Amino acid sequence: MDTSWMEHGRCADENPSLFFPSDGVGVLRAQRMCGTCRVSEQCLEYALRNKIDHGVWGGCSERERRRILKRRRAAGLTATAESAADSNQLLTAEAS
Ligand code: SF4
Repeated sequence: MDTSWMEHGRCADENPSLFFPSDGVGVLRAQRMCGTCRVSEQCLEYALRNKIDHGVWGGCSERERRRILKRRRAAGLTATAESAADSNQLLTAEAS
């Protein structure tokens, strides 16, 4: 999985502990920063696909990511299906 987006994250120069808060106030602080990050979608997808349990990624808390994964499972979307969709998009983009 491509991780080049990480260097463009708003948090690139921040203390990583900011994104592994121990309380709700810390979660909100991290989410505010993620809210202005231009790679938040890639960040969230990375955390979801790698089943990262801890921290705030892409503006989502651990609980929020668990909910997203649950909704995806319910919808029948697996990581494999998502990867196939991404591959198809890449192939389509390359063909045009
Ligand atoms: S979305 Fe948040 S955690 Fe992810 S790269 Fe951006 S600032 Fe960092």
